[in-house]
Amino acid sequence: MKKIAIFGSTGSIGKSLLNIIKKDKKDFKIELLTANKNYKSLIKQAKFFDVKNIIIADNNSFLITKKLLKNSKIKVFKNFESLNKIFNINKKIDYSMCAISGFQGLKPTLDIIKFTKTVAIANKESIICGWNLIKKDLKRYKTYFIPVDSEHFSIWSLLNNDKKNNFEKIYITASGGPFRKLSLKKFKNISIKDALKHPNWSMGKKISIDSATMMNKVFEIIEAKKIFNVNYNQLEILIHPNSYLHAIVKFNNGLSKFLVHDTNMIIPIFNSIYFNTDKKLRSKNIDIEALNNLNLKTVDNIRYPAIKILNNIGEKDSLFETIIVSANDKLVDLFLKNKIKFTDIANILLKICNIPEFNKFRSIKPKNIGEINDLVNYVSLKTDAMCV
Ligand code: NDP
Repeated sequence: MKKIAIFGSTGSIGKSLLNIIKKDKKDFKIELLTANKNYKSLIKQAKFFDVKNIIIADNNSFLITKKLLKNSKIKVFKNFESLNKIFNINKKIDYSMCAISGFQGLKPTLDIIKFTKTVAIANKESIICGWNLIKKDLKRYKTYFIPVDSEHFSIWSLLNNDKKNNFEKIYITASGGPFRKLSLKKFKNISIKDALKHPNWSMGKKISIDSATMMNKVFEIIEAKKIFNVNYNQLEILIHPNSYLHAIVKFNNGLSKFLVHDTNMIIPIFNSIYFNTDKKLRSKNIDIEALNNLNLKTVDNIRYPAIKILNNIGEKDSLFETIIVSANDKLVDLFLKNKIKFTDIANILLKICNIPEFNKFRSIKPKNIGEINDLVNYVSLKTDAMCV
């Protein structure tokens, strides 16, 4: 029986993982589930899967949950400090999924590494802003890491644990979002509703806007650079409208391999939890039509100016990446509140990249979470002020 923990179990990734586990409930013992505010769903999950421990981060929701579970065997905790009370470093659990959204995902990701044999990370902010810290802890506690973001999961599968870096280049694909064919003249009038209409994936608002601006791919390139320890010139984005092909790796021996699967996060999630087993996933046959219509193109920085940000980031891991993630978070929020235009997102981000005050962060590696959080808050306020 695999012992597991799911951080962000009430979210889209968390629920997909629970749906996989539901099919073989007896093979798993869920030690911990977590949520922020959604106590109703968390309590339901905990009861259904017979979970002993839950963490609910929002204070009000914690108090309600505590009251509701007063006479239950389920232990309710409020913050991630409590991991020390739940887990034992000498008896590591088998698998943990880190699927909390946003910057708040970094702390629990760092906290669980010492208590788990394998950590699967979906949360992009953890990797972009905290990879330096995560990498150290993975090594220190001998914890195995599996990336869950679909492109990174594909690259990881193609590299097949190759630690020698026997490859020259990695290509990741982008659908091009809802504005792949929109006349450039119409960009200034893009509405919130238009920007939320992703052609292939059904996702939350924030990530849908990031797909429309291409910031999602900018983040994925930064993630890939860190996870696979390559230079930016070894990474390229290719537009691929039907999102069937996720990544291509060109190896040193002349071979190139690519990975295709349906646009369904179940596939990377399933393979992360059943890694190294011969467990079968019922899936569709190969989509010949999609293969015949790969239609790959290089990405155009006039349509997608956000990708120019990649020329502004230095090769070294630094706090500069945190600036970009935080500013983008704020800008997406302002766009969704109708306070700025769609085109402002990339334009302001490019301005932020050139603010002299931020230059020094290009050579500073994050030393702890406090440093990352302080910078996130500062950049958020600064970005807000730039948009008034
Ligand atoms: P959701 O927004 O659907 O779920 C987020 C989860 O995190 C929920 O359980 C939520 O709890 C919890 N949460 C949110 N804020 C906090 C907080 N402050 N403290 C503690 N818990 C919190 O996100 P997704 O499942 O879609 O994505 C999770 C991560 O995976 C993101 O970083 C995303 O970028 C990444 N990802 C997602 C993909 C997808 O297809 N969905 C694909 C690839 C990567 P509550 O329900 O109570 O709000």
